[in-house]
Amino acid sequence: MSTKVSIFLGLGANLGNRRATMRAAAQRIREVVTDVRVSSLYESEAWGVTDQPMFLNAVARGLTDLQPLELLEAMQSIETELGRVRNARWGPRAIDIDILLYGAESIDEPRLVVPHPYMTQRSFVLRPLADLAAGLTLPDGSLVGEWLTTVSQDELRRIEGPSWAD
Ligand code: ATP
Ligand code: MG
Ligand code: MG
Repeated sequence: MSTKVSIFLGLGANLGNRRATMRAAAQRIREVVTDVRVSSLYESEAWGVTDQPMFLNAVARGLTDLQPLELLEAMQSIETELGRVRNARWGPRAIDIDILLYGAESIDEPRLVVPHPYMTQRSFVLRPLADLAAGLTLPDGSLVGEWLTTVSQDELRRIEGPSWAD
């Protein structure tokens, strides 16, 4: 018997045909994650390194049999397949797929930190996450909906419902 774990992924794209790449990423994710549901699609100003094109962002949730590092590797191969070139941290990229949450686990390994360390500071993560799971709690017991009230949503715009991934 396999026990599937509920996971949340954060997607972002700011190079090339952003919507097509986001859609292709959602389809690839469905090959390794079951019961996938996606949030609305948002546009946001770049975070960290701000002198670059606007991002499209969304969150996907689903169930997986993969172990955390296997899931990371699967998401990194999708990034590579969809044209991501590894360069500067927080620089422009065709696609970024981050593991936000893996069940209720806290993971702190060199290659993988979960919950994603910046998720509680990013409106482009919190807002789509709240779309999918408003009452969701993090492993420390804090609420996604509460974190959402602590960040500015000024630079975030909802541009399309969840059918962007169809
Ligand atoms: P940020 O993590 O701040 O969103 P980023 O997504 O631009 O930045 P990347 O260049 O995509 O960062 O990834 C850098 C490294 O982060 C990856 O090689 C991976 O090993 C590591 N990493 C640590 N925790 C995670 C996580 N939760 N999800 C995805 N990658 C992670
Ligand atoms: Mg990221
Ligand atoms: Mg990343």
